[in-house]
Amino acid sequence: MHNLRLLLLLLASAIVLAVSNITGKEDIESIAAEIHREVLTLDSHTDTPLLLSRDDFDIGRRNSHLQRGGQVDFPRMFEGGLDAAFFAVFLGQGERTTEGNKAAKERAMHIFELIHSAIDNHPGMAGLALSADDAYRLREEGKLAIYIGLENGYPIGREINLVDKYYDLGARYITLSHSRNNDICDSSTDPAGPEHGGLSEFGRDVVRRMNDLGMIVDVSHISDQAFYDVLEISQAPVVASHSNARALCDHPRNMDDDMLIALKNNGGVIQVCILSAYVKTPEPNPAREAALDEVREKFNHFEGLTDEEMETAREAWFGVQEKYPRELATVADLVDHIDHIVDLIGIDYVGIGTDFDGGGSLDDCRDVTEIGNITLELVRRGYTIEEIEKIWSGNFMRVFRQVESKRSR
Ligand SMILES: [Zn+2]
Repeated sequence: MHNLRLLLLLLASAIVLAVSNITGKEDIESIAAEIHREVLTLDSHTDTPLLLSRDDFDIGRRNSHLQRGGQVDFPRMFEGGLDAAFFAVFLGQGERTTEGNKAAKERAMHIFELIHSAIDNHPGMAGLALSADDAYRLREEGKLAIYIGLENGYPIGREINLVDKYYDLGARYITLSHSRNNDICDSSTDPAGPEHGGLSEFGRDVVRRMNDLGMIVDVSHISDQAFYDVLEISQAPVVASHSNARALCDHPRNMDDDMLIALKNNGGVIQVCILSAYVKTPEPNPAREAALDEVREKFNHFEGLTDEEMETAREAWFGVQEKYPRELATVADLVDHIDHIVDLIGIDYVGIGTDFDGGGSLDDCRDVTEIGNITLELVRRGYTIEEIEKIWSGNFMRVFRQVESKRSR
C-alpha cells in the first residue's frame, strides 16, 4: 500500500521533471527524503552504550557530536529518520583468566542494565526490540526500536549457559570476537596471528547454542578462516554487522569477494560500515598514527578499563583527532561498496551498520541526523525504493526471521 503511494509520487515527480527545464536536484532530494521516511531504516551496529555511563549524557535529550555528545540519541534518531538500531554491549578483549572472564561478565551485565534503563527512562520515545517484528510494531507506535547486540563473545568466558543468559537479557546477536583472539575464535586483527586456526571447539558449541536460541551469529571482526568455519556449521544465515568490501578497501576487517560469494550462498547479509578507514584506505599520516598508538598503549588498547578510564581514554583519543585532523571518506565512497557488493552478489545481501560512537564517521555523515545522505546517494545512483528498502532493513530482517525460525529451545 505504502509502496503504491510512493510509486505514484515517483511517477508524478518524473512527469514534473520531464515537463520542466529545472535541474531536478530538488526533486531528487525530495524523492529521497520521501523514500527515507517510507522505508524502515535499521542500523545494525552502534556503540552508543559507551556514552550511557556519562553523567552529562542523556539519551532522551538532543546532544551534539561537536560537543562530544556522541553521534546517536533518541531525538537525533527521530530527526535523521533512523527507526531501529542495535546498541552494542561492547567489551574489549582482556585477560582470558577466571578473574578476567568474571570481570568481563560483570561489565557486560552492567552495560545491559545501562541500556535497559536508557529505554525504561524514555518509554514514550523508544522500546526494547526483541524480534524482527518488533521494529515494525514500534514504528507504528511512533517509537524507536532499540535492539541489543553483544560485541565480543569474551564475556561468555567458557560458560556456554551464559549465551542463554545474554539472550534472556535481550541480546539478539553476538559478534564472536573483537580485535583480539578469544576462546571462541581467531580475530581478523590480532597482532599475534591465528591461535585456533579459525573457530575453536568451544566456539562451535557457541554457534550451535546460538542457532538453537534463534540468535544471530555476527561474523564481523572474526578471521577469514573463522568466518568459513562458522558458515560450515551454522544452521542459519549469518550477518556481518559492520564490515565492508576488501576489493575496495584492503583491510582485514573487510570481506573479500570469495567471502561475499560464500555469504550469499549462506543467505546472510553484510552491513556496510561508515568507519572511514574501512571505507577508503587513508593517506599515510605518521605523526597522527604515532600519537594514536601512544593513546592505545597508554590505555591498554581500551581493554579492561573502568568507566572513568574509558572516558579519559576517549578524551585523549578525540584530542589526537583534533590535533591531527584527517580527511574522511564520503557517503559516495561508502555507496561504492554497496555498488560493488550488489554487482557481485545481488541486491539481497547488503545492509547498513554504521559503527556510530565506535569510530564510524564520514565527511557528509557525521552523526545520525545525516544518514539521509546515504539514501540520497542511492537514489542518485538509480536504486529503486524496493532496493533501498532491502538495503535499509529488508535484507537484515529476512536473515533475522530465518534465524528466529530455527529456534528450538
Ligand atoms: Zn566493531
